[in-house]
Amino acid sequence: MFQAYLIKYAEIGVKGKNRYVFEDALVTQIRSNLRRIEGEFKVSKINGRIFVHTLSEYNYDEMIDILTHIFGIIAVCPVQVIQNHTIEGINEAAVAYVRDNYEDKSFSFKVDTRRPNKAYPLTSMEVDARVGEAVLTAFPSLRVDVHNPEVLIHIELRKEDIYIYSKEIKGPGGMPVGTNGKAMLLLSGGIDSPVAGYMIAKRGVHIDAVYFNAPPYTSERAKQKVIDLAKIVSRYAGIIYLHIINFTDIQLYIYEKCPHDELTIIMRRYMMKIAQAIAEKNDCLGLITGESIGQVASQTMKSLFATDDAATMPVYRPLIGFDKQEIIDLSKQIGTYETSILPYEDCCTIFVAKHPVTKPNLNIIKKSELNLSEKIDSMVEEALATDEVLIIGKDY
Ligand code: ATP
Ligand code: MG
Repeated sequence: MFQAYLIKYAEIGVKGKNRYVFEDALVTQIRSNLRRIEGEFKVSKINGRIFVHTLSEYNYDEMIDILTHIFGIIAVCPVQVIQNHTIEGINEAAVAYVRDNYEDKSFSFKVDTRRPNKAYPLTSMEVDARVGEAVLTAFPSLRVDVHNPEVLIHIELRKEDIYIYSKEIKGPGGMPVGTNGKAMLLLSGGIDSPVAGYMIAKRGVHIDAVYFNAPPYTSERAKQKVIDLAKIVSRYAGIIYLHIINFTDIQLYIYEKCPHDELTIIMRRYMMKIAQAIAEKNDCLGLITGESIGQVASQTMKSLFATDDAATMPVYRPLIGFDKQEIIDLSKQIGTYETSILPYEDCCTIFVAKHPVTKPNLNIIKKSELNLSEKIDSMVEEALATDEVLIIGKDY
């Protein structure tokens, strides 16, 4: 069992004052996510590095699962704490460590000692040599390679504890959520929008989400699918406030009053307007969508021009230049794909025209929207009043 985890994070761009903001946000995020698993843990900054110390029994796989989903972490190193601080004790622990952690004993290695405890009786080079020799004696099938070792055994001599670690498990990289403001994700049940949310959250942006629901045209299962997708994204992005808006009346009204080949664009424009209203109320600095140029009729340059016009705040479209296959690959990697492809109708597939305009003219669209002028403002208010907020990730 490992008693501690060393958290590695990228330090580029986190110099000076930013470094503290970055580290503190990372510590907060780690503490918050570890509440999702059984066990007692202490997360602390020690000499400019972040450690998780375990204070009780816990499940290793759960621990790794939590830590490898936190943005800002580039790698996690499971650490064993050595009880006996004499060089003989360290040697013995290192031999046991290699015995227990490497089944195939035919790799090259090197010992790399750090010595924050300057009072330790041996220098770091002496410890390198002594531990290397002990390991090699115990396992003669290993070989030392100081230039390009397959396994780097780290020994860290601290005053209170001595650590040994060698394994590095890859994290997602990026920046800790909370270091870069907040944005509102338009989250549908499709493949794209969860990936879009993931990508923006990876830059340290805290995300809230909004889903436009159209009961009874969309089922309870379609809504549950969106909740499930939000849960998967929240494993990386932390707690997400998911707003569920009843969009049915607006959709029916547009259907009744506007040319059917313009339905998708006009609906999308109202989604943007409502999303912006919720975003403003919740201190968000932008909207996020899963759009990509040319993917469907509603995402041609002209369609995006018309949709973008509906929002005045910045709209972030992190997938804009991606092919569908690239987005699918990413969604598989982050774990949303299997949920996204479940076959429940989302609101746009019901009201979708057979031949939607692919080159909408914004002026014509705006003219069509005049047909809505009688009731649309009050309907937007009513839709906003249906806002049901679910806190995703709290009881994950
Ligand atoms: P996705 O896989 O994200 O559903 P898509 O390829 O199906 O994308 P569209 O249906 O054209 O694309 O939607 C484009 C974007 O508009 C989505 O990525 C999402 O951000 C937003 N969107 C679409 N429908 C909804 C909805 N019902 N609720 C919230 N946002 C939506
Ligand atoms: Mg969709």
